[in-house]
Amino acid sequence: MSDCPSKKNIYHSEQEAKEALIRIHVKYQNSATRTFYTCDQCGHFHLTSSGEIDDTLKQAQQAGRIDQLSESEYWTRKLS
Ligand SMILES: [Zn+2]
Repeated sequence: MSDCPSKKNIYHSEQEAKEALIRIHVKYQNSATRTFYTCDQCGHFHLTSSGEIDDTLKQAQQAGRIDQLSESEYWTRKLS
């Protein structure tokens, strides 16, 4: 298992990091997490709240996808 001295969550691919980014925003709509970066220490990806907002996240927000997803997540939780 890989580990990082930064103690941050590790993502092994850009895709994985982007999905996590979207998920965080679905869960916490005011999340300050904006994008991901490649770590100098472990060579994997971490999420960060500094820098430019990720394009995938920006597009999802503009398309209203975050709202849609959080609504469906709400109902999924409520019905299960
Ligand atoms: Zn790292």
